Amino acid sequence: MLISCDSNREIDQTIIKKENIKETMIMVVAHPDDETTIGPVLAKYAKDHDVYLIIATDGSYGVTDHAGIPEGEDLVGIRNIEAACSCEALGIHPPIHLGLIDGLGFYARGNFYEQMSMMKEKLNEHFQRLKPSIVLTFGPDGDTGHHDHRLVGNMTAEVLLSSSDYVDTDLYHYGWTEEQSAKFPHWNLGYVSEEYLDTAISFDEEDEQKAFASIRCHESQYTAAELNDWVNLEKRDTSNILYFRKVVRNTTRRTAF
Ligand SMILES: [Zn+2]
Repeated sequence: MLISCDSNREIDQTIIKKENIKETMIMVVAHPDDETTIGPVLAKYAKDHDVYLIIATDGSYGVTDHAGIPEGEDLVGIRNIEAACSCEALGIHPPIHLGLIDGLGFYARGNFYEQMSMMKEKLNEHFQRLKPSIVLTFGPDGDTGHHDHRLVGNMTAEVLLSSSDYVDTDLYHYGWTEEQSAKFPHWNLGYVSEEYLDTAISFDEEDEQKAFASIRCHESQYTAAELNDWVNLEKRDTSNILYFRKVVRNTTRRTAF
């Protein structure tokens, strides 16, 4: 149909834009393998979004007995390959590595404040370039409580709060219910009261199968038996829902609490 007036044309173009341009979702994590926490949701959204994984640290301290790979460059190379394998399995873009030092200066190498300012600068660069409409990251519990997880979640929020450029970017923390966290007692996962988990994302069997394939990429971190146990635990849980909490950033200023 011919469009005869300017206001209609504007509306029409808005619709075309929404239909033709994929929205971008970014998950920001600390280590190669952290993406496995919400793999099925990444696989689901990859069908109609541009989904990216930003990995802050190089994972160089992720030494395991079964892999026998010493900490350092060899391990970084293997974990990069595993992260690429995982992203391919999920159907998302190849991983973006910020290359910060595993431990972010808490261990033997690196300076904490330098690592923090590098992370802030690099996250900003990628957010400016990719213009995400959705960003997912760790909440205050840091999933397993790991300090790198807590810091990455904190820094992601700091960057998105630092500029009005991000006013249209929705930030979500992912969170386990208490029941979900109990599935993995050996990981001592943090959890969030269900009444605060305001976003529930369901996923289907196909999404879950992609997530299982991505989990199996991380052979340097888990033994074959551990990977099988993990997959079997997830298979037994047929609820197929992961929860998130939207980080609300009001732009209206109130004058009282
Ligand atoms: Zn981690």
